[in-house]
Amino acid sequence: MSDTKPSVLVVGSVAVDWVITPRAEREESIGGAATFFSIAASYFSNVRLVGVVGEDFPKQGLDDLRARGVDLDGLEVNPEGKTFRWKGKYHENMNGRDTLDTQLGVFEAFDPKLPAHYQDSDYLFLANIVPALQLKVLEQMKTRPKLVGLDSMNLWIDIARDDLVKVIGKVDVLTINEEEAMQLTSEHNLVKAAKAIRGMGPRSLVIKRGEYGALLFHDDEIFSAPALPLEDVVDPTGAGDSFAGGFMGYLARGVEPTGQNLRTAMIYGSVLASYNVEGFSYDTMKNLSVGTIQSRFDQFSRLTDFSKAAL
Ligand code: AMP
Repeated sequence: MSDTKPSVLVVGSVAVDWVITPRAEREESIGGAATFFSIAASYFSNVRLVGVVGEDFPKQGLDDLRARGVDLDGLEVNPEGKTFRWKGKYHENMNGRDTLDTQLGVFEAFDPKLPAHYQDSDYLFLANIVPALQLKVLEQMKTRPKLVGLDSMNLWIDIARDDLVKVIGKVDVLTINEEEAMQLTSEHNLVKAAKAIRGMGPRSLVIKRGEYGALLFHDDEIFSAPALPLEDVVDPTGAGDSFAGGFMGYLARGVEPTGQNLRTAMIYGSVLASYNVEGFSYDTMKNLSVGTIQSRFDQFSRLTDFSKAAL
């Protein structure tokens, strides 16, 4: 793609999930952090994806990504192994979940090599994957991107903490779950955990809190973005990645990452996440229009709008 619009490059898992919720189940559900991120970000900017799949990855997944204009030159198809697989089961309240199985498959031997035209991307998102691979991608950038974001998870805090802390030290924005923020810092208070994480490097920090929304820590301010109260949450898988896609995709339009603009990015992230959880996989996020995105953005605005008052 030789387009002059800014691009966001994402590296992360491209996966086949097996999702079990209290009311339904889907085996062979197309997933992966980079997949959800790419579909969400594609509504805002050009997206380039780095990842690996096996020949078992459903063709539908590739077709859907292509239909959203995602550049797949950096997606390797390795005939020697199986696609990364994750199986998870949600709790009755749909907020918590347990990982039942993870099979790294082709990710075990993955050695990402960025296509030449990826190496000057202005925006980079290191979505959830082994931290050593996130570092490898960052090191292959010809020039330091304007903004680098990172996401991770409890597994890597447990088994690859040193690499994770190293990569955290090199990024501008970290997005992480509440429990993971506490696990990473051994703090039980979110504000203290946020302070400790920002001390590791990132100027901005987003703490994701599932159905309670997300908090942004930037400069000396804290901003709270709600999650939209929805009557029917079908599958929360990928909410965090869709959030990151809306958030980074919006900033990748060339928007300066000021406190105020990061707040707007938080709402676009929340909008995309809210669509994503209304269906399995990315079913309810893949055919949105600018109008539907904007009307839900306005809904978020009404949700938190109140008048200044004084007694
Ligand atoms: P989220 O719900 O935003 O945390 O993302 C869920 C997605 O993360 C699923 O589609 C999984 O395939 C993917 N995933 C689960 N475990 C891992 C892992 N250890 N590394 C990379 N991606 C993972």
